[in-house]
Amino acid sequence: MKIHEYQAKEILRRYGVPTPQGVPCFTVDEAVKAAQSLGGKAWVVKAQIHAGGRGKGGGVKLAKTIDEVRQFAGQILGMQLVTHQTGAQGQQVRRLLVEEGANIAKELYVGMVVDRGTQRVCLMASSEGGMDIEEVAAQTPEKIHKVFIDPAAGLQDPEADDVARKIGIPESSIPQARAVLQGLHRAFWETDASLAEINPLILTGDGRLIALDAKVNFDDNALYRHPDLEAMHDLDEEDPAEVEAAKSDLNYIQLDGTIGCLVNGAGLAMATMDTIKLYGASPANFLDVGGGATTEKVTEAFKIMLRNPKLQAILVNIFGGIMQCDVIAEGIVAAAREVRLSVPLVVRMKGTNEDLGKKILADSGLPIIAADNMADAAQRVVAASKGKN
Ligand code: GDP
Ligand code: MN
Repeated sequence: MKIHEYQAKEILRRYGVPTPQGVPCFTVDEAVKAAQSLGGKAWVVKAQIHAGGRGKGGGVKLAKTIDEVRQFAGQILGMQLVTHQTGAQGQQVRRLLVEEGANIAKELYVGMVVDRGTQRVCLMASSEGGMDIEEVAAQTPEKIHKVFIDPAAGLQDPEADDVARKIGIPESSIPQARAVLQGLHRAFWETDASLAEINPLILTGDGRLIALDAKVNFDDNALYRHPDLEAMHDLDEEDPAEVEAAKSDLNYIQLDGTIGCLVNGAGLAMATMDTIKLYGASPANFLDVGGGATTEKVTEAFKIMLRNPKLQAILVNIFGGIMQCDVIAEGIVAAAREVRLSVPLVVRMKGTNEDLGKKILADSGLPIIAADNMADAAQRVVAASKGKN
């Protein structure tokens, strides 16, 4: 799960990481009031979307007057912000963060991720923070310093100090750097984060360290332990089809191909997508209906797939293990009737009660294309999607 920058900063503050003073806003008037209440001579107006690269896309603006705050807030709110992480269609801006302007002497980078190889949290730090960190990682990886943190001991003082010196933090600011890095690590650990990043972490003219930007992602499988974090979820930022699917407990990911896939089991779903690719088309979605799919769940899955305007055919690929083929077949027939299926449907099923399942499909009178194996199913669905059936 992702959250907004202002929410990430709220969390970091609880762990002693300094951030600028700021106010989240939903309207231009709120933005103006926020700037007035913050006081000072400069303000930053920042788009809040679940994607990075906002600065380069025009979603972060430095205002020198209250009139400029009004002007920038008006420009950014409601805009379709396109960044290298949003895709070409961009993301609509519905929230702003108005902050006091900071006096930047140097932009640094610090971030943490779970490193699967070492099974540890990896701290990454660089003197080259700011908007081009991806470039730095690609062109000059030696400028990114790493610490693999011992899970029992946490981030030790000497480790924190050493990495802080390596990224050019002056001696007088080392105690602060240690507090920031250890605070970031405790925040990461205690919230079950999968990523936590401060870019830029700035050094101000007077030697203070401040988190000017913050990004935290959480491990969805641990969210049940954090109802307060789950409450931060902004559904406006998510794909509506994925939000609908989650309500029905379906594992659904929207993709950009034309062939809808309804499969039980994540591994089989991946293999099904590969097979579709092999025969020359692309999946419109990943969908694992799980082991206990009911008629209602299957119907919901069809409805969600059919809402996709790119959809040209559907492939149902079921292995009847715990799930019985006849139960799934009844689900498919009921769902196809209810949703008035508008695209060709290919079904491949194997396993428990396979013959009964196939009979139910054949007797339904629906124009279902039966397939015997995965290669056959993929070829048939690709052909059907191109109108060659
Ligand atoms: P991102 O592009 O989505 O990562 O957004 P950031 O929050 O990192 O902002 C992008 C850039 O805007 C930063 O790297 C800074 O250079 C600049 N910026 C952000 N806040 C301030 C500020 O308070 N003062 C100044 N002068 N620049 C800022
Ligand atoms: Mn940033």
